Amino acid sequence: MRELLDKILQEGTVLEEDVLKVDSFLTHQVDPELMSLIGKEFASRYQDKGITKVVTIESSGIAPAVFIGLELGIPVIFARKQKSLTMNAELLTAEVYSFTKQVTNNISISTKFLTEKDNVLVVDDFLANGQAALGLVELCRQAGASVEAINIVIEKSFQSGRALLEEKGYRVDSLARVKSLKNNQVSFIED
Ligand code: 5GP
Repeated sequence: MRELLDKILQEGTVLEEDVLKVDSFLTHQVDPELMSLIGKEFASRYQDKGITKVVTIESSGIAPAVFIGLELGIPVIFARKQKSLTMNAELLTAEVYSFTKQVTNNISISTKFLTEKDNVLVVDDFLANGQAALGLVELCRQAGASVEAINIVIEKSFQSGRALLEEKGYRVDSLARVKSLKNNQVSFIED
C-alpha cells in the first residue's frame, strides 16, 4: 500500500537493525486517516469471505483491527496480555513470547466472544517471528473458529514469521513487506 510505504519512509526509524519504530502513526500516536485506508484495503480483500470477527492483540493491533471491523461491519476482539479482575468468564489462553519486550505473556480472550461459528481475520501491527500471530490462531483453534487469513500492517520479511505461519497452512497478507533495515535504511519487497 503506497501511502503506508511512504509514511514508513518519512517517519519510521530503525533501531538495532531489526526493529522499526513507527510510534508517530501506529504504535503510540495513531494516524486515523492512514488506519482508515488500511481498514478499507483489507476489507476490500475479504469482503466476500464470510468473515464474522476480527481478532487482534493489545495494544498496537487494535487501531488497524478496529478500522477493518468497521469496514466489514463486524466486531473486533483484542486478546488481553494481562488477566483483568472483570474477566471472570471462561478463557481461551495461549503463551506468547514478545519480540520487542522479551517477556512471555499469557494472552486470553473470553470464550463468549469466539465460537466454532466464527470465521476470523487475525490482525497485528507487525510480523517478526510469528509468535503473536501463532498465539492468536491458537485462541481461534481452542474456540473451534476458522482463520481465513492473517492480516499484517508491517511484515519484516527478513525474519521467520511468514514462513512459519505459511508452513502451518495460514494465508499471510501484509500491506508493507520490509526486505531490510540494514544501515538504518528501510527497503521493501514491492509487488
Ligand atoms: P512476532 O510475534 O511476530 O515475533 O512479533 C510481532 C509483535 O512484536 C507485534 O505484535 C509487535 O508488537 C512487536 N514487534 C515486532 N517487531 C517489531 C518492530 O520492528 N517494531 C515494533 N514497533 N514492534 C514490533
